Amino acid sequence: MPATDKRPCGLHHVTAICSNAARTRDFYERVLGLRLVKRTVNFDDPSCWHLYFGDENGAPGSLMTFFEWPNAEPGVPGAGEAVALSLAIPKGAAHEWVRRLTEEDIYVAIAPGADDALTFYDPDGLALELIEQDWAEELPGYTTAYIGEEQAIRGLAVVTLLVDDCDATANVLEDIMGWRESARASHGGFLRLRFTAPGGPGPGRLIDVLKAPEAAPGRQGAGSVHHIAFRAADDKTQAAMATAMRKAGLTPTEQKDRTYFRSIYAREPSGVLLEVATDGPGFLVDETADSLGTSLRLPSRLDAHRDEIEASLPPLA
Ligand code: ZN
Repeated sequence: MPATDKRPCGLHHVTAICSNAARTRDFYERVLGLRLVKRTVNFDDPSCWHLYFGDENGAPGSLMTFFEWPNAEPGVPGAGEAVALSLAIPKGAAHEWVRRLTEEDIYVAIAPGADDALTFYDPDGLALELIEQDWAEELPGYTTAYIGEEQAIRGLAVVTLLVDDCDATANVLEDIMGWRESARASHGGFLRLRFTAPGGPGPGRLIDVLKAPEAAPGRQGAGSVHHIAFRAADDKTQAAMATAMRKAGLTPTEQKDRTYFRSIYAREPSGVLLEVATDGPGFLVDETADSLGTSLRLPSRLDAHRDEIEASLPPLA
């Protein structure tokens, strides 16, 4: 199945916590070349920024989003959370990325292995990787003044979860999300299972589950992944996934309207917070393609408080 397969499957977005929205914006927009496709607030806490970065249109699978918690202590990675995010780059692009990141004084570790990953950290210590993927060049790259088509990031490649109970997480991925185990390997005493989304290669279609029965639970803070979101084609598909969750003993929330998608949330048995987000209506619902991410967007229920919300948010640049 080609990467252009449009069947909604795989990951929709990953949301992490940052401590300084302006610094995070500079890193993901200027250094990594993602597009800031939406600037809004955390709908559950409108005093906080919620920034969405992705490809040109913010397609599902390309999205990394951030809640800003200005006084957050640094998180401590551990069991029950996503501990690393890999972003896809085209074949042959790694060399140029080493140069670019090094020029930005970002330390890059080159880890030859199954994925030949370039490993580095975002300004809050979130572990990131760039990995070359065969399918990446089939997708259009979002270009900037600094980053050309041949180098541009094409979305999420792999999300790595650290869990104490691999089987329980595997059951959720396979029985509820419809993914399948496609590889397993042992690395330094850790069992690593790779799960692949249905529909062939493309953005957001790989999850690695690292089994760490002795690991302490992660402590959430700046640089932690808050949740990972899976795609659902529509409300009906999402409702079926909620039913499957309940059958498996999970407790999904009611559906929440996030303006750009509709979501349910549930924690899987090892503690990772999962979301299921509909593909629609998408980011063009309140901005044109050209103006995506250029002004503060608020859901209508918060619009009456726009002035005070705007005044309380830290500057973005
Ligand atoms: Zn989310």
